[in-house]
Amino acid sequence: MAPAVAVIGAQWGDEAKGKIVHFLAKDADLCVRFNGGPNAGHTVVDQYGEIRLHQVPVGALYPHCLGVLAQGMVLDLWALREELSALKAQRRPDPKILISERIHLILPFHKVREEREGAADRIGTTRRGIGPAYEDRASRRGLRFLDLTNEELLRERILADHKTWGGFDPEQVLAELLLFREEFEKSVGDAQGRIASALASGKKVVFEGAQGTLLDVDFGTYPYVTSSKTTVHGIPWGTGVWPEFSAVLGVAKAYTTRVGAGPLPTEDHTHFGEKLREAGREYGATTGRPRRCGWLDLVALRYAQKINGFTHLALTKLDVLSGFSELRVAVAYRLEERRTEQFPASSWELMRAEPVYESLPGWEKDIQGVRDFGKLPREARDYVRFVEEAVGVPVALIGTGPRTEDLIVREDLWS
Ligand code: GDP
Repeated sequence: MAPAVAVIGAQWGDEAKGKIVHFLAKDADLCVRFNGGPNAGHTVVDQYGEIRLHQVPVGALYPHCLGVLAQGMVLDLWALREELSALKAQRRPDPKILISERIHLILPFHKVREEREGAADRIGTTRRGIGPAYEDRASRRGLRFLDLTNEELLRERILADHKTWGGFDPEQVLAELLLFREEFEKSVGDAQGRIASALASGKKVVFEGAQGTLLDVDFGTYPYVTSSKTTVHGIPWGTGVWPEFSAVLGVAKAYTTRVGAGPLPTEDHTHFGEKLREAGREYGATTGRPRRCGWLDLVALRYAQKINGFTHLALTKLDVLSGFSELRVAVAYRLEERRTEQFPASSWELMRAEPVYESLPGWEKDIQGVRDFGKLPREARDYVRFVEEAVGVPVALIGTGPRTEDLIVREDLWS
């Protein structure tokens, strides 16, 4: 059986999955996105510069790797066109992509609907029409890529949506969708079949999760979650294949961040949180909104490990912790005078949880770009070992800077 590696966000998203997938896809034949849409922003810094990919799988940056957009995603064709132009502008090779014919489309009225329903203010959504597109998929009103060949159905749906929601020119949208059909015709097909046959013939496949476990629609901090499956279960759900994984890799920052509303037990409102935000450049890439920052939450991380069955962790942005004399990590919560190590299923309960911290010694030395575990200061090595012990799985990769090569590799995840 072929080696497949799952890369899953272990926190609330923005864990630096982009760089980790870029590192792994160096050796992969296929890189598959299975959930979410342009609400993802996976950053890669390589010889061409910095790029944020929203829908194009990160592996497709390599000419040898096919990027698959599987049916579990929702696709914004207008945003995809922009993304492909951004790649061209950096003089990167044209990516090879395969879009599932079954993929649901995000249409302009989905954004109008998201605004009208106030989801961005209520639960902190990204205003990209993702939630309404998934809603339409579940309520059997959605349009899939393959529907672009049925002009009559297309016209009927678009006129009906225009009547209900307004806010866009139906004739223009229809004309643009028909153009997209031609533009992407050669890139559309049977994604499920392609992934299944790649796995069966021994090809290497990396599955690129978007958002994080704690934003999963079922296992996240509901209702402050995204509308898709962000956990490892999103892979069979979003691709139709059931791989045997050589590794299920949970990606976690060495501290915690969250964008938008919802519980965040270790959020730090003092100068520590501010220092993490500045050192980690924790500002939303498109909105410039400051991210909420705090210490590493091992209760949440252990929960994410259990839900996904992580076999390994990637601990990213360890370099951001340089210069703190003391580092805190949450090892339990206090809930109404009761100590618990369980992550509550209720967001309302989680909002009342007080973290119980342990203190670890920090380090002064700048570790940016370190690639050898032995060259880290002893305190940094002890911090990594503390995490491994608490979560019960090895930390295979350690991020020490934004570039893909700023990485300590402790284990080969393909074997
Ligand atoms: P993703 O959505 O999970 O892929 O996360 P992002 O793309 O938002 O990545 C987080 C940010 O951190 C990006 O700006 C990356 O370039 C940067 N980054 C990634 N790894 C590291 C690291 O190890 N150290 C530092 N300092 N920055 C990193």
